[in-house]
Amino acid sequence: MKTSESNQPNAVRCCGRCKRVLPLEEFYVNSRTQRPDPYCKDCRRTVNRERHRAKSQESKSQESKSRRRSPVITQVADRDERLRLIRRALATVEEHHRRRLARLREQEEDLYPF
Ligand SMILES: [Zn+2]
Repeated sequence: MKTSESNQPNAVRCCGRCKRVLPLEEFYVNSRTQRPDPYCKDCRRTVNRERHRAKSQESKSQESKSRRRSPVITQVADRDERLRLIRRALATVEEHHRRRLARLREQEEDLYPF
């Protein structure tokens, strides 16, 4: 009885989720495979909603994680605080370059002492 079940006028199908036996109209048909959904429309809606919610919660928690990891200077509301952070960042970079340059010069002097 598995062949052409969707052509039978009073065809029914057992939902794989709620286990209710429902008429085929209560199931969506996969547009790609032309086969009825294993879940009834009610269950399909519930499943899709839960999947959507789980996804959006996942991305939300990732957002807050990355926000905690490093404060973004341009997102600091207070202008003076923002300038202070930028100056400090610039000074750190400058200091880094100065030290590197000094180290390079030392190495050069070691290589060419005359
Ligand atoms: Zn169902």
